[in-house]
Amino acid sequence: MSTTLLSGRSLAKLIQQKAHDEARNLETDGVRPTLAVVVATDDGSTLWYVRSIERAAESAGINCRIVDLGHDATGQVLASVLKDLSAEPSVNGIILQTPLPPGVDADALVGHIAPEKDIDGANPLSLGRLAVGQPSFAPATARAVTEILDHFDIPVAGRNVVVIGRSAVVGKPLSLLLLERDATVTVCHSRSGALEKYTKAADVVVVAAGRTGLLNGGHISSGAVVIDVGTNVLSDGSLVGDVDEASVRGIAGALTPVPGGVGSVTTSLLLLHTTEAAREQSHALVRGTAV
Ligand code: NAP
Repeated sequence: MSTTLLSGRSLAKLIQQKAHDEARNLETDGVRPTLAVVVATDDGSTLWYVRSIERAAESAGINCRIVDLGHDATGQVLASVLKDLSAEPSVNGIILQTPLPPGVDADALVGHIAPEKDIDGANPLSLGRLAVGQPSFAPATARAVTEILDHFDIPVAGRNVVVIGRSAVVGKPLSLLLLERDATVTVCHSRSGALEKYTKAADVVVVAAGRTGLLNGGHISSGAVVIDVGTNVLSDGSLVGDVDEASVRGIAGALTPVPGGVGSVTTSLLLLHTTEAAREQSHALVRGTAV
């Protein structure tokens, strides 16, 4: 069987174009969408990633405000900045970039991001709303997976989907998005034991564990769709996913590459979410229901 590579790059361009068009529409309504990225690290690869968000935002016509608080920012300062940005009408979307300084608890801080500005679904309220089907932003990576499935016309309704990983940023929200689409979802984690017991019966397998080579050709059935969310940096600096690509090729019906798969779509969705947040906030202002 030949394995189709599901590249995320062209989809990312389409989503970025959609964000760009929406930013222009908002601008004609007098709104310039603005994304604030709060940073408190001097880690080079994180700063590079933040600058790549800034560049992508600017080319989509979205203001990007990098709020760099330095690598020794305290939890108190971070909390106060997140509260201020949440209350500031000119800011539509907020991201708290990790890693944070040692000892600062990200879980305690994300609750300060107003849910309507929580464009990366970090506030537990966003996950709760997702769980009960109320409007909220899903984490961009989780939504990137469903966007890829939609874009390549891969149905999940009534099919067996296995998600490996149960974090609050990927596995859990993704399982909720898939349930919403009528998939039969099995979530595996580090205590699940032999993964093939679940993955062999899956039409679609999504791996989000951060473990190089966790899923190989022996785990899947012929024709299964494999979505690789994992990003692992090898000692030579190269980036690989969680899937042993060589052994899966020829067995999987389709596979997302790393790099160039889920990760490429994620950033463009942060921009689209920012325009969606800006649109909703401008409607709330008209209705007089803005916080
Ligand atoms: P995380 O918080 O470390 O969660 C990893 C999950 O994988 C946990 O639920 C863990 O199980 C499970 N796991 C670990 N080893 C396993 C094993 N041997 N068998 C089965 N399950 C196992 O990581 P995360 O933040 O969700 O990220 C997951 C991966 O996605 C990472 O590689 C990360 O870099 C990548 N990622 C990519 C993007 C993107 O845009 N492409 C964005 C975010 C994250 P337990 O719960 O039992 O510990």
